[in-house]
Amino acid sequence: MRYISTRGGLIPATFSDILLGGLAPDGGLTIPEEYPVLAPGELAGWRGLPYSELAFVILRKFADDLPAEALHAQIDKTYTAAIFRSEDITPLTPIGDSVWLLELSNGPTLAFKDLAMQLLGNLFEYTLLKNNGCLNILGATSGDTGSSAEYAMRGKRGIRVFMLSPHQKMSRFQTAQMFCLQDPNIFNLAVRGVFDDCQDLVKAVSNDAEFKAHHRIGTVNSINWARVAAQIVYYFKGWLAVTTRDDQEVSFAVPSGNFGNICAGYIAKRMGLPIRRLILATNENNVLDEFIRTGVYRVRKTDQVAHTSSPSMDISKASNFERFIFDAVGRDPVVVRELWRQVDTHGFFDLSGTDAFRAVARSGFVSGSSNHQNRMAIIRWVCQQTGRIIDPHTADGVKVGLEYREQGVPLLCLETALPAKFEESIVEALGRPPERPAGYENIEALPQRFEVLDADVGQIKDYLVRHTS
Ligand SMILES: *Cc1c(COP(=O)(O)O)cnc(C)c1O
Repeated sequence: MRYISTRGGLIPATFSDILLGGLAPDGGLTIPEEYPVLAPGELAGWRGLPYSELAFVILRKFADDLPAEALHAQIDKTYTAAIFRSEDITPLTPIGDSVWLLELSNGPTLAFKDLAMQLLGNLFEYTLLKNNGCLNILGATSGDTGSSAEYAMRGKRGIRVFMLSPHQKMSRFQTAQMFCLQDPNIFNLAVRGVFDDCQDLVKAVSNDAEFKAHHRIGTVNSINWARVAAQIVYYFKGWLAVTTRDDQEVSFAVPSGNFGNICAGYIAKRMGLPIRRLILATNENNVLDEFIRTGVYRVRKTDQVAHTSSPSMDISKASNFERFIFDAVGRDPVVVRELWRQVDTHGFFDLSGTDAFRAVARSGFVSGSSNHQNRMAIIRWVCQQTGRIIDPHTADGVKVGLEYREQGVPLLCLETALPAKFEESIVEALGRPPERPAGYENIEALPQRFEVLDADVGQIKDYLVRHTS
């Protein structure tokens, strides 16, 4: 399998070539030259496979340049009951008649990002050790991504993580989760400022190409291809768990922000998994819902992004969306470049009435959005029905999923975080906090390790220089 860029400027590359990278050199996103398509009977042969075996047969199609044993070893090391607190890795819980939660949040940071990030940590370490390399990951976080990256990279040889977060602006639980890590390769930098300041600082450092190269600075944001690839696996796992016939269709409801999670579902469908609908759910920041309904992709300015009670979906633009649009416009990089030029100059593009937009509907996408009141009502409803407490992001997905539910079609709602991460919202909805998983009871009381810095590029660079040599 070879990888190209959505903007046409990448000489076809292997999985290993693009594994550690972010954006392609031409500013586009990397994507397989062709999606692998399942052979007749192949899916039937996967029934009953444990998660790690299933992950191997799927990911081998995308990472065919790694030695099979090495890939297998990294996957086996990743998807264990010890790390994901369940033999199934992604178990199902019924929440209604033919409606399930696909539990994706039992990993170390209690959010679905662990499923991909934990594998990424192992693949990064393997690749760096093989090439005698090292990598200094610089990132900015308002919560989920940063902790997921730190828990995936902690203790890994050849890797350091420098994670900027807004000083005293994350929830106590999220802060504790990150700052309690004592691993010497993890550096928590609390920046006096807001999340956007952190992001600007990362950009400023990354734009200094010489500094970046000299100090081997890299990223692990959601555009990383391997993260999308690893997420494809649980769509197969979920489908296999609720079907008995090989042509049976299933719909998935996906709480969406940067379009990474649902992009993986779309690719699973392209590979031949019988997915009926991909139900895209947003919160009040409805950039993607607007596109699916109207064909207009209109990014928001930072000050137009609402701060909601499902904060990991508070986005101004959807960084993985370009992968999907590349397919929708017939894989023409000239068109993709023109569309993103329009986004850069006018803030939007409009595909309404075009073949590209008809292709979007044909791909099975439908969408909806929800607001704070909807989330609260859904959390209460699911709890009344089943005794189960879901988190506000998952509630966005369940709300929109139920709107598109069809007789006879199993509906899998992706659980993207555990409620313990968002205690305040649960108390508001139910009048009591959710239970915490074992080991997280007193996380706020653990000793914390972090450094406070000003929102100043000079200070950040200076810190990096002192800690990367
Ligand atoms: C990251 C995240 C999302 C959004 O996922 P995307 O891949 O960005 O669409 C939804 N819910 C939670 C809890 C998250 O952490």
